[in-house]
Amino acid sequence: MVDFSFTEEQELFRKTLREWTQRKLPLEKIREMDTKGEIPQEIVKEMADLGLLIMTAPQEHGGAGADWVTTCIAAEELGYADISIAIPVLFLVESSWGYVVDKHCTPKVREEVIKRAIRGEAFIGIASTESGSGSDVASLKTMARKEGNEWVLNGEKVYISGTEEAKKWGGGFFVIARTAPAPPEAAHKGMTAFYVPMDAEGVEISKRFEDMGRMAISTGAFVMNNVRLPEENVIGEVDKGFYLTMEGFDCARILIGATCLGAAQRALEIGIDYIKQRKAFGRPIGKFEGIQFELADDWAMLQALRSLVYRTAWMMDARYKYGKFSALEVAQYISACKLLVPMFAFEVFKHVMLWMGAFGYTKECPLEMGLRGIMSYCIGAEGSMNIQRIVIGRELLGKEYVPYK
Ligand SMILES: Cc1cc2nc3c(=O)[nH]c(=O)nc-3n(C[C@H](O)[C@H](O)[C@H](O)COP(=O)(O)OP(=O)(O)OC[C@H]3O[C@@H](n4cnc5c(N)ncnc54)[C@H](O)[C@@H]3O)c2cc1C
Repeated sequence: MVDFSFTEEQELFRKTLREWTQRKLPLEKIREMDTKGEIPQEIVKEMADLGLLIMTAPQEHGGAGADWVTTCIAAEELGYADISIAIPVLFLVESSWGYVVDKHCTPKVREEVIKRAIRGEAFIGIASTESGSGSDVASLKTMARKEGNEWVLNGEKVYISGTEEAKKWGGGFFVIARTAPAPPEAAHKGMTAFYVPMDAEGVEISKRFEDMGRMAISTGAFVMNNVRLPEENVIGEVDKGFYLTMEGFDCARILIGATCLGAAQRALEIGIDYIKQRKAFGRPIGKFEGIQFELADDWAMLQALRSLVYRTAWMMDARYKYGKFSALEVAQYISACKLLVPMFAFEVFKHVMLWMGAFGYTKECPLEMGLRGIMSYCIGAEGSMNIQRIVIGRELLGKEYVPYK
């Protein structure tokens, strides 16, 4: 039997979250955050009180022990509320990378950052990208060498979400660095993941990028200049960091799918209200098939993608709980979500803006925040669209057809 229903607890959780976002995150508040360029501490604290921060961490570590379906519900609701996508970025980066760090880190790192991030007192993010290495993670240049009981890191990470937040609130990043020369046949080997606190000696923010969207959360760069870390800051096993990085990407990508579903739903609702009352040629413009059919197509596609996202979240839960699917099987579906939903959401925002005519082009209308924010996920935050196609193609055709060596 196939059962598409959510549990009573999940329905109640969605309702509670919707009530909270309606009270705390109306669109005027989102506009204010987008203009000021920060998420208020009060909101972060309330997210912590609601159990939203690293909600995927187990209860014995202070998290909510949420499964992936429930975490997708939260991502969808936050995307519905904050169409600029800043709060969803905070939520999903922590629920995915915080989850992976918590799962593989030492008790010291868990105390130092995970438990504090769960309480809203620190930020934990991912720092993989470098100026010469984005999609091709294995080509990164950051080096970590062992000196006695310490690791010494040198390099620079760029386009990193949350650099200013980690500096201000405390916390740091899952940093991936090379620890052994790559064998010629497998560039991804010899890489290790570390927890790098932003207040470690030798860590310095080198830039805040002026992004076009999701303005309330920073995107920056930081250098690591002879940063000395104890062995306890290694996440998982030495030289096996690439696999943890892929695990983190998978967790983040499914939540991006759910976030973009919520944002697309909100855009459609804003559009429906508008086309029912805006008149042209003597009737509401929603009566013209040129608009109504586009609405119907978008709604139909939204339902299809919603099924894909929640089916994939269910697969993740089945994998983590019962080992039902392999990681690569699930990754193929996750990549389908990341490939399709952000671009679809972007198209929905574009359609609704066009329905709104000149008003849609102004900042009195909230839609432009969505268009700017969602584009970050089409461009490539947590992996570009072509990288999703490569993951899917690899599963369909086998590794020998992967278009890189
Ligand atoms: C707002 C924002 C926030 C970000 N936050 C973070 C963060 O927190 N942490 C972090 O580590 N990174 C972050 N990133 C970086 C993101 O992970 C990279 O942008 C992404 O991995 C792509 O890398 P790149 O930008 O260097 O593009 P490139 O890798 O240079 O790719 C450029 C283009 O070439 C295409 N391409 C590359 N290889 C292939 C191929 N084999 N076949 C076909 N096409 C290919 C890509 O699809 C893309 O269209 C963020 C990016 C943005 C925009």
